[in-house]
Amino acid sequence: MKLPQSLTRLIESFERLPGIGPKTAQRLTFYLLHFPQEELEVFAEALEGLKKNTKLCSVCKNVSETDICSVCGDPARDKRTIVVVANPLDSFALERTGFKGTYHILHGIIDPLNNIGPEEIFIKELIDRVEGLVEEVSFENVDGSDTVEIIIATNMSMEGESTAMYISKMLRERGMDGGKVRISRIARGLPVGGDVEYADDITLGRALEGRFEIK
Ligand SMILES: [Zn+2]
Repeated sequence: MKLPQSLTRLIESFERLPGIGPKTAQRLTFYLLHFPQEELEVFAEALEGLKKNTKLCSVCKNVSETDICSVCGDPARDKRTIVVVANPLDSFALERTGFKGTYHILHGIIDPLNNIGPEEIFIKELIDRVEGLVEEVSFENVDGSDTVEIIIATNMSMEGESTAMYISKMLRERGMDGGKVRISRIARGLPVGGDVEYADDITLGRALEGRFEIK
């Protein structure tokens, strides 16, 4: 028996999602078949607007409905303290700790086995952003006492570690070290191999507090 094309198309779309195999894709498709038409339309509209109505913040690359996201646009946030994360979800997790700085979203981590190099993620944008801040700092503070702090909060995996090392190396190579930019890595509390996204607020808050400088 052959399934109607409208069904196979949807099954194939579901199968492209992470964690969904052919069986689940079929089940979801048949489940949706019982939905009233209006509900399906609401679902389809939400799907359609997902990318159409969002963009990446021009400063931090987080998902936003405006050119500058609500965090970057908030004058109460500390623009000189930047937590670098792999994904938007990590920034939402950190937000629950009461962190009052800003973020930079890489949209991935360096992962040579999956062909993701430094150019595939927003590292260059981060370096440029920090450079801009350093120039701003030295302009505003003639004594240069005000530093920029970069806290790298990628996962405690091998890829997360090497991404952190790469970023700190790039910053140093561009002359942003010691006095101008402090680079640290979140640590205590996060288990080795642990995901930032799934850590509870207290663990994440402690990991942020217990960050250590990358030498
Ligand atoms: Zn932003």
